Amino acid sequence: MLLKRLRDTMARAGSPEETLGEVVRTVANAMVAEVCSIYILRAGEVLELFATQGLNPSAVRRTRLRVGEGLVGDIAAQARALALSDAQSHPQFAYRPETGEEIYQSLAGVPIVRAGRVLGVLVVQNRTSRQYDEEEIETLQTIAMVLAEMVAGGGVVAADEVQPIDGIGLLPLRVEGLQLTGGVAVGRAVLHEPRIAIQRVVAEDISVELGRLDEALVAVRADVDRMLDAQDMQAGEHREVLETFRMFVDDRGWHERVREAIGSGLTAEAGVQRAFDDQRTRLGQATDPYIRERLSDLQDLTNRLLLRLTGRSAPDTAALPDDMIVIARDMGPAELLDYDRARLRGLVLEEGSALSHVTIVARALDIPVVGRTGDVLGRIEPGDPMIVDGDNAQVFIRPGEDVLQSIQATLEARAERRRRYAELRDLPARTTDDVDVALHINAGLLIDMAHLEETGAAGVGLYRTEIPFMVRSEFPDVEAQSWLYGRVLDLADGKPVVFRTLDVGGDKVLPYVGAFGDDNPAMGWRAIRIGLDRPAILRRQLRALILAAAGRPLSVMFPMIADVAEFRQARRLLDLEVARALRKGTPGPAAVRVGVMFEVPALAWQLDGLMPEIDFLSVGTNDLLQFLFAADRGNGRVAHRYDNLSPALLRLLHFVVGRAEAHRVDVSVCGEMAGHPVEALGLLAVGVRSLSMSPGAIGPVKAMLRSLDLARARAMVATGLARSDHSLRETLRLFAADHDVEI
Ligand code: PEP
Ligand code: MG
Repeated sequence: MLLKRLRDTMARAGSPEETLGEVVRTVANAMVAEVCSIYILRAGEVLELFATQGLNPSAVRRTRLRVGEGLVGDIAAQARALALSDAQSHPQFAYRPETGEEIYQSLAGVPIVRAGRVLGVLVVQNRTSRQYDEEEIETLQTIAMVLAEMVAGGGVVAADEVQPIDGIGLLPLRVEGLQLTGGVAVGRAVLHEPRIAIQRVVAEDISVELGRLDEALVAVRADVDRMLDAQDMQAGEHREVLETFRMFVDDRGWHERVREAIGSGLTAEAGVQRAFDDQRTRLGQATDPYIRERLSDLQDLTNRLLLRLTGRSAPDTAALPDDMIVIARDMGPAELLDYDRARLRGLVLEEGSALSHVTIVARALDIPVVGRTGDVLGRIEPGDPMIVDGDNAQVFIRPGEDVLQSIQATLEARAERRRRYAELRDLPARTTDDVDVALHINAGLLIDMAHLEETGAAGVGLYRTEIPFMVRSEFPDVEAQSWLYGRVLDLADGKPVVFRTLDVGGDKVLPYVGAFGDDNPAMGWRAIRIGLDRPAILRRQLRALILAAAGRPLSVMFPMIADVAEFRQARRLLDLEVARALRKGTPGPAAVRVGVMFEVPALAWQLDGLMPEIDFLSVGTNDLLQFLFAADRGNGRVAHRYDNLSPALLRLLHFVVGRAEAHRVDVSVCGEMAGHPVEALGLLAVGVRSLSMSPGAIGPVKAMLRSLDLARARAMVATGLARSDHSLRETLRLFAADHDVEI
């Protein structure tokens, strides 16, 4: 009844004040409360009294509380309901004379929450000491949900009342994080949430809504069954994960909770959301990984159901600003590519780490990324002006004029540096003692190929073929792949390109394959392991590469090779495809060079067996470091615990370079460390002569090596390798400072 009345109120399009006024009157009446008030969260974390029945009307738009201040502020800060029969004796009680509040004994309030964010607080108060029961609190929560949709939709409170407005209670904010990629960007905030907006909250007919819920459940169940069918039945653990998820879909307790919510007058989608919000509020603080897993299963299920129920397929990105700064908790690389790259300026990740693939993609897009900021999503409104200063690992939210001016100066200094690097473009990559170094770029998208010319790099040392696979909605066929690889070779214009075969699994998930559900994906079914277990996939890719080369040289390398037998199997597939091309009379590659990525430490003790069979070795230090130190590269808490410049990693590389030289096999490093001047200095000092890096790093690395006397660096590092230091970074920095090496 109450919900129906509220819906009628909303339908009578009055002014925002009238509508909210009507809402508080209706609620106060229905709940037999003397007071009902709505506080709305304004920018700067201020809660403002927007409507009241029972408090002094002149306090409306005057009474303001900080989040955390008073009982209302406490409800917002904790994002949880509060019911007190003796409110005034609560330690959080804050007295506001303008409201006439002292005469009310009891208080019940609930946060107005949408998609996990507090938008305001709904409160009722009674003069006498009153115990509010659970049902009453639930009623308030349901009303708060309706209010949340109204507020977020801008339908009741004008958008500029909830959006930050310059100058009004708006605090600029500076947040520190971790530099994931350098650079500076100025733009407007876009909050990345796979959030599904619910348009209809109040049910017209409850039985219809229950029916819609059942239909959606059937459809989602069928989706999960399809996934179960499509997966390899032997992959036990993976199957279990999916089956657990499927059990979740059938969980009766959960169904009951959704049905109850619908029974109280909500639509099916609002009921699903409501049940999830309840659960999240209940379990949100839990740190138990098992419970967190369940919660993320539930989030996934909720999103799936909401997509079905709202008939939406994916969030609409067309309406976003031209200068997007995307803010996310964490993100996969394909998700980042969902945004129009022409409008994407910068990225802020609450979590994230330097080697996760979203960071690597962001680097290829040449946008600054600051990660590990902690909670910022809750402090930024869509459209807020922002600066991402990757160089200094900081983010400015709603910056003031002074900050904008100094950032402008920084941008100019950067442009100046770029001009200087451009001047180096045609100069040789040669140390002061005449050692030549080959500098290559890493690429993964056609657009990256333009950097070859612009940087003057010798070629592409690593072409990550998986990125095009990740942005598509289905497996590209041979024709599509060969077109793409052919374009890459055309754009390389005779410079060598090393194609790495598909390296999916781990953190790189193909949308049409789905997550494999490995417990430990980086060490799970990924890269060459998939290629060898599903040879059709690998053979199709090799076929496409051979077709694309058509009379030109072809370099192929296999990722994550852990033993010689794996290389031989992969190589055999390549030979089969070359023979097939010859048989069919298609013009084969002019020459084929075959290489292996050195990422798994076990390979170090098989080099003498491997080397005679390969043309080159490329060291993937991103994975090598994580396997050498058993530290997940995607886990912010451990990714930086061990250093690329540790004597352990450098000694290993020194050994590998020595074996490669003995066998006359080319060796290069294509991990991210190749692109950091001081780390590249360490690599050169242990004998590496070929580096492949993100294009933006070519200038700084070239400047470094052109100012380097390598013989001295070698001597210095040779003594360092024997030490048991955590890292030689400081030693190398001091060396560079003492010898004027530009790092
Ligand atoms: C590496 O592991 O260092 C590497 C270059 O490969 P990726 O980052 O694509 O795993
Ligand atoms: Mg790798």
